[in-house]
Amino acid sequence: MSDPVFDIFIVGGGINGCGIARDAAGRGYSVCLAEMNDLASGTSSASTKLIHGGLRYLEHYEFRLVRESLVEREVLWAMAPHIIWPLRFVLPHHKGLRPAWLLRLGLFLYDHIGGRKRLPATKVRDLSQDSLGAVLKPGQGRAFEYSDCWVDDARLVVLTARDAADRGAEIHTRTRLTSAHRTGGHWEITIQNDAGHSRTVKARMLVNAAGPWVADVLSGLIGGNESHEVRLVKGSHIVVRRLYDDPRCFFFQNADGRIFFAIPYQGDFTLIGTTDQDFGGDPASVEISPAETDYLLAAANQYFRAPIGRDDIVWAYSGVRPLYNDGASKAQEATRDYVLKHTGGGNIPALLNVFGGKLTTYRRLAESALGHIESALGRRGGRWTAHASLPGGDFPVDGFQAEVEHLRARYPFLSPENARRLTRAYGTLAHAILADAGAAQDLGPDFGCGLTGAEVRYLVEREWARSADDILWRRSKLGLHANLIDRFALDQFVREALAPSDG
Ligand code: FAD
Repeated sequence: MSDPVFDIFIVGGGINGCGIARDAAGRGYSVCLAEMNDLASGTSSASTKLIHGGLRYLEHYEFRLVRESLVEREVLWAMAPHIIWPLRFVLPHHKGLRPAWLLRLGLFLYDHIGGRKRLPATKVRDLSQDSLGAVLKPGQGRAFEYSDCWVDDARLVVLTARDAADRGAEIHTRTRLTSAHRTGGHWEITIQNDAGHSRTVKARMLVNAAGPWVADVLSGLIGGNESHEVRLVKGSHIVVRRLYDDPRCFFFQNADGRIFFAIPYQGDFTLIGTTDQDFGGDPASVEISPAETDYLLAAANQYFRAPIGRDDIVWAYSGVRPLYNDGASKAQEATRDYVLKHTGGGNIPALLNVFGGKLTTYRRLAESALGHIESALGRRGGRWTAHASLPGGDFPVDGFQAEVEHLRARYPFLSPENARRLTRAYGTLAHAILADAGAAQDLGPDFGCGLTGAEVRYLVEREWARSADDILWRRSKLGLHANLIDRFALDQFVREALAPSDG
């Protein structure tokens, strides 16, 4: 029997590759996706984790992008209310930085151009009267408080991949595209897994969603010359012990004209970032530099009353933005919009390259990609993703607490923190993990922080987890509590859970 010919082969298991796979599979195209490492192991787990309009992009007149992003906030929130939820951002005004009228104008547009329905509108606050002002250095006055949303970025990718697979897509992790060429009216693509086994896959269209590797895949593996279209810009974050006890975030202006965020993170921590630096190395080995660490500490210390230093940093991470190269002079000014470039069609197998994009716009980027796919392969179905929940997200946007209580009522042995954590991660699918357990010991070994054998098995079987790091840093952020996790036992358990599928 001859090998099947997929409609679409996608390289890259970040948010863009998975978003396109989901949309395409849902329209009835046959899809195969290869990710060389773990899902979301590239840029898609290294973001600031905001579903946001991007207030500062208004300064660069990116109205199309901001409007689309603002609209997406409420669309994505409704699709996945377990991993996406609203946040309030407090932006202090300072003489000598952006004038108050400019901030007001930006926030007026923010509130009005993006079809805001549920998110609360902007308010003016007086930080000398607001409890949040007390954590900042004295002398704070007026501030603007506005809405955006939080997202668990890595889980957004995994749930999108899960949905794509449930709709028929083949998802191969730890599988690298090593070459691709056009032959006999289709692509012949060689992929290799981490055990060194290679195989050839045929597809009518190839989608290059390799993020910061998009140019490497294009010029090195496919044979194209659009490498100059991508501008790699590194961004880093630091995580410190919780700096204040309030759910609101800060949006600070730095003296150099850049902005940075301080965001309550994982209960016990504050996330501070980010930086913007042109990047020329291997995206796989990107890490925060001492200069970036100093920059972020100094930026935070300009504002917070209690100074922080290197010893306060519990974790830091970096990612590389695969931006479309619009020729901007400064890294922070390069467009955050996406550009899709399509070649081939007719008798020549089509290639679609994805440049730029944000987590926030991934669903719309996928819809645009489907426009190109339709023109190359013929139309199948229409747009469908705007109202389709991601796995576990089939509950109302204001129904999170009710879901937690429902879970606790069904499984009274769960601690309140763990019921909350499980509902945040899995939404209604938490019930699938706990199944018919009547007591904590029915869930298998307890690795610490409420992580049990049942959850790990689910992550291996349903979410492509292959190592303890996949579980501790991407399927969850339990790695932040590494001292509370029995890492040795977890490694061992993952190996055993994988054994049947390896064998
Ligand atoms: P990636 O996530 O990098 O995925 C590409 C994948 O391709 C990788 O996993 C890689 O392993 C795989 N790959 C590469 N080559 C091969 C090959 N040969 N074979 C198989 N697989 C391959 N966006 C927001 O909306 N909100 C934010 O708050 C935000 N903050 C950000 C902060 C920072 C510091 C950064 C860096 C980005 C931020 N972004 C944010 C942008 C967003 O994170 C990215 O636009 C998005 O994650 C890019 O996704 P991607 O799928 O294109 O790339």
